[in-house]
Amino acid sequence: MQPAMYHTEQTSEQSPYSPRLSSLAAIALVCSLILIFTFTLYHSAQSRQHELKNHMLNVEINRVQRAIEVNLQKEAYFLVWLANTLQNKGKIDDRVWKRTTAGIRSTFPFFAGVYWLDAESTVQWTTPTNFTPYPTNANWEASSSVKLNAMPVLSRLSTSTVHPAPNGRLAIEMLHPVVFDGEIAGHLGASYNIKMMVEAIAAEFLRPGQNLVLSDGARPFIGELPTAAGAMVNTVALNALNGQWQLTVWQSKEAEHTYFSLPILIFIAGIVVTALVAMSLYLLEVNIIGRRAESSMVSMLKEEITQRREAEAQLKFTANHDPQTHLPNRFAMEQYLNRNLRSDHDMVLMCVSLDKFQEINDMYGHLVADQLLFEAAKRFKSVLPPHAILARIRNDQFMVACAGMSQLEAEMQANQLRMCLEEEFYIEDNDILTTCAIGIAYRYNNELLADDMLRHADTAANKAKALGSRKVVAYNQTMQEQLNRKKELERAIRQAINNDELKLHFQPQVDLRTRQIVGVEALVRWESQNGVAISTDVIIQTAEETGLMQRLGHWVVDTALKEFSRMLDERCAPKCIAINVSGHEFQDGYLADYVIRSVNRYDIPASRVQIELTEQVFIENLERNQHILNRLTASGISLAIDDFGTGYSSLAYLKHFPVNTVKIDRGFIKDLPQSNDDLVICQAVVSMANLLQLKVVAEGVETIDQQELLRNIGCNFAQGHFYYEPMSADDLMVVLKKQRAGRLYPAS
Ligand code: C2E
Ligand code: CA
Ligand code: CA
Repeated sequence: MQPAMYHTEQTSEQSPYSPRLSSLAAIALVCSLILIFTFTLYHSAQSRQHELKNHMLNVEINRVQRAIEVNLQKEAYFLVWLANTLQNKGKIDDRVWKRTTAGIRSTFPFFAGVYWLDAESTVQWTTPTNFTPYPTNANWEASSSVKLNAMPVLSRLSTSTVHPAPNGRLAIEMLHPVVFDGEIAGHLGASYNIKMMVEAIAAEFLRPGQNLVLSDGARPFIGELPTAAGAMVNTVALNALNGQWQLTVWQSKEAEHTYFSLPILIFIAGIVVTALVAMSLYLLEVNIIGRRAESSMVSMLKEEITQRREAEAQLKFTANHDPQTHLPNRFAMEQYLNRNLRSDHDMVLMCVSLDKFQEINDMYGHLVADQLLFEAAKRFKSVLPPHAILARIRNDQFMVACAGMSQLEAEMQANQLRMCLEEEFYIEDNDILTTCAIGIAYRYNNELLADDMLRHADTAANKAKALGSRKVVAYNQTMQEQLNRKKELERAIRQAINNDELKLHFQPQVDLRTRQIVGVEALVRWESQNGVAISTDVIIQTAEETGLMQRLGHWVVDTALKEFSRMLDERCAPKCIAINVSGHEFQDGYLADYVIRSVNRYDIPASRVQIELTEQVFIENLERNQHILNRLTASGISLAIDDFGTGYSSLAYLKHFPVNTVKIDRGFIKDLPQSNDDLVICQAVVSMANLLQLKVVAEGVETIDQQELLRNIGCNFAQGHFYYEPMSADDLMVVLKKQRAGRLYPAS
């Protein structure tokens, strides 16, 4: 199955949340436009404000001009009124003068003083008395064109030009004739303090920062014209003063400056608006991008979830199904049983075990074998009821679970399955015949769990196989008991091997001509704790099945050689000690080394050690085994073929191996001398061995007849209960010592 790929990394370099360049450019453009607009507005507001200020200055200067004129007129009126008052007196003397002009300064503060000029233009009286009027030699008529005279009331008033007066003053002299009896008796004069008046008016009308200048066009009389550029200046002609005087009001640039003028406010507002717009647009963009990224993330996640779901579904299918047949697997079957056995269902479980499936695999290849399984599954389905569950449990095992089926129906169904499989398969140009064994487990009114049912069906199928296959066997309790016993035995043997509870016995081999013990064979013994002797075959088989054979083998080699070295020490050792080595042990590449090392360790001559191997070991894995066998014989150890006749029974291959002894299996001896067949076999083996110059040992000799017959056919060595049963090392040494002493009389 293709594993699902989950893409979580970002392929683009840009983060999905960073705004796009085009958007940023658009934001910059909008902001620039707003800023340009702001500046334009700012500039127009500034010039508008300038205009406004100019206008204001104009208004202000006109007001000042008007105020000056009004003031001058007012004073002029007063002088006319005072002249008329004097005229009305009809005469003028010191007393009249003083009374008329008393308090004049306090009423008209801008009059520096008034004075009386007599007919000869001589100053006669002054108020205040210490006032010095304009020099008498001045030309009084010089300024008769003063505008003030334009008014009828003032028509006779004459005024001077502005002139500097004592105490830094600027003054205008005003003269009005006083007529007594139709003749000008003199002139009433007044010195008008222009500077004071102008300053007072400026203080009243001008704002801080505004300056007033009175000049005659060439030089200023009052105030200073601005020196710095950029000041706002407004100049008008002062009509009241003959038009030759100019009034200027100006204000400096600094004074113009106000912190919160409209242009500044516009400017600030523009900047703020730009910033706000930029920020809003940026946030909007970020938001849009965020949403887009979110939605693409969501769709990515959706896709990923879909992929995951698919992968999960696939995984689930794989976890629950067999890839070749697409049938439910063992796990799924267990689940099914677990689910269904919880209810009180009666259940039948059949285990269909194909015969020699491995052979089919080897012969036709995996593809054909897989196809066979597929076809078999199809056939099974065709004969099963629809509610039956068919599963493939193992390589060559199917299982069928079926609820609500009687025992008889189940057996009939099983036979149907068996027969449909036995029909010929035609796969890829191959005719394939196959058979099977079927085990059935029932669950009727009992509390069997899924696991038990699976085990029972399996046990029954194994039993069916053991009975020769093509059988249908129903599970019964005895099978379980047998299995339990086997299991228990296995456990005990394993424990015995682990705890060194085993013993080694020795069975002598005798020379049939001299009856002398020429060799001993080491045989494992174990007596279980309850005193029952366990068959050595069972011990060996169990050790092989449970992986303990190597350990057991090493122990046997070690113990046998140790005991043999004891016999050597006691000077009673036979010529040879034979040690059995099983096929399992032989697969251990280090076996030869171990035996050779042990032989050296106990200082035993290698020629006195023989290793017994079955035919099977010689034949299987020929090249590799030959190498090991050669190593053993190279060191001086001899080899014997054990149980000869039970396997390939061909002496021809013996020439390939460095063997020097053949042991005829007990099976050919036990029915002698009655069995003619066995006699012929024994004769053939002996004569062939003699030809090949091999030593022949007959195993399991129990009777004298057997002994005589073997002797007659030329067999020189024998081993069996007729001579000695296997015995402990100590017992053996007693026998061997007797033989050495010549006190041994073998049974005859
Ligand atoms: P085996 O190598 O053929 O050993 C001879 C078997 O015949 C022994 O059985 C022995 O007790 C039995 N026997 C000898 N004489 C007679 C007789 O006159 N009559 C009868 N009925 N039986 C006789 P045992 O000791 O039960 O051993 C069975 C097999 O277990 C051995 O057959 C051998 O293949 C294997 N075995 C025993 N000990 C070892 C061992 O240490 N290592 C390995 N690998 N296999 C061993
Ligand atoms: Ca043997
Ligand atoms: Ca044997």
